[in-house]
Amino acid sequence: MDFFPVFFDIKNKPCLVVGGGEVATRKVGMLMQSGSRVTVVAPALSDTLKALADAGKITCVAETFRPEHLGEAILVIAATDDRAVNVRISENAKKLRIPVNVVDDPELCSFIMPSVIDRSPLVIAISSGGTSPVLARVMRAKLETFIPAAYGRLAQFAASFRDQVKQRIQPAKRRIFWEKILQGPVAEMVLAGHDKAAKDALEQALASDASDTGTPRGEVYLVGGGPGNPDLLTFRALRLMQQADVVVYDNLVSPAVLELARRDAERIYVGKERARHTMRQENINELLVRLAQEGKRVVRLKGGDPFVFGRGGEEIETLAAHGIPFQVVPGITAATGVSSYAGIPLTHRDYAQSCVFVTGHLKDGSVNIDLTGIAKSNQTIVIYMGLMGLPTLCKELVAHGLAVTTPAAIVQQGTTYQQKVVTGTLATLPELAANAKMKPPTLIIVGEVVKLQDKLAWFKPEPIEGGSDFVQTSSD
Ligand code: SAH
Repeated sequence: MDFFPVFFDIKNKPCLVVGGGEVATRKVGMLMQSGSRVTVVAPALSDTLKALADAGKITCVAETFRPEHLGEAILVIAATDDRAVNVRISENAKKLRIPVNVVDDPELCSFIMPSVIDRSPLVIAISSGGTSPVLARVMRAKLETFIPAAYGRLAQFAASFRDQVKQRIQPAKRRIFWEKILQGPVAEMVLAGHDKAAKDALEQALASDASDTGTPRGEVYLVGGGPGNPDLLTFRALRLMQQADVVVYDNLVSPAVLELARRDAERIYVGKERARHTMRQENINELLVRLAQEGKRVVRLKGGDPFVFGRGGEEIETLAAHGIPFQVVPGITAATGVSSYAGIPLTHRDYAQSCVFVTGHLKDGSVNIDLTGIAKSNQTIVIYMGLMGLPTLCKELVAHGLAVTTPAAIVQQGTTYQQKVVTGTLATLPELAANAKMKPPTLIIVGEVVKLQDKLAWFKPEPIEGGSDFVQTSSD
């Protein structure tokens, strides 16, 4: 974050706007909405500003800017069309450590103004860090459409019960109580304008929750985080990530996905790289049990789908054995996500009527699975965890009957901006992959469908040399 977002209390405090045109008028309006005492310094004023001054709502000084005008101001906005004047305002304000904003001139600003969605007392501010105000406004327009206008009422309703809830519900359960209220039928009643019914329902919930003094019940959500691109998360994954007290994640989870977890959720990295297990599987299982027993809502975040080469089954077996409630949220597995973004359909009427997902992890230097029945024509083979074993795998597939000319592809960090696709045949792919210095995680796809990649590739980011969209190099 290039800027630190804060909400500033300017109620009844003096703020200065320099400039008397249309832009200055808009800024004056915004400051007034927050209850500031506004002074405008400008030789000429817009009609609106004149009217406000006549009505005694703002103070006007019909002069060009001088440093003395800064006076008592706790905030300054420069909106003149003379850059030299703007520079002077900025320099003088900064000298006095008064926060200053110069409209459309980020270099001169010590603070920038966000795009605002106002559902007072609920306010949402969006900033692009000065890089693209238009983008911030577009975002605002999108959010406006799905945040009901009545959310302000909901915030007021919550405010009126805040003290009571604080007194009667123990701290560990308070957030859960409010989430239940603000996402459940009570909120719907407020949004529908049925305040009396909402009040009764909230009081009932308060009475029953206040009498419950046991430890809150923890729960574990085994969540599939998809192959890396946050756009590919499910709504359910996002919702649960937003409610988590703790997120337990490993190296296949991309930072962009992790970023979407609740901001103040504790994050625990349990690693798992090939040959260097940061935390043993049994310890991870125990950790989940312990956190849930402490009453936490735990998101166990995994790359792809938790039930596809994800050991998800083992983790929830332990939970079940301890009687801990859990839910499983499917994710887009690497095979489907990565093949889509690489432009390789897994099945095709002309080339492949079936598709298998296998692990390419070698055991004692040799292939860990029986390739009989896997290596056959008209079947696409998707190999997870195969980078290290690629030469052996290609050789074995040929030994089991596939032609050396069978098309094959390897995709690095599919669906992310580090995606790289290398295509060849079972004969050439190992060398091509080595030359391309592929970075894990990588997925290997073998079969005639790989030929279509030429025509169907649609996602072509330009990976940064040495860059990675994953927490650490991954298990390949
Ligand atoms: N549960 C995960 C798979 C875990 S095994 C899923 O459903 O996708 C880890 C392997 O998944 C990696 O070694 C790699 O082969 C594959 N993989 C996961 N994400 C990938 C990505 N973005 N690009 C390429 N391969 C990926």
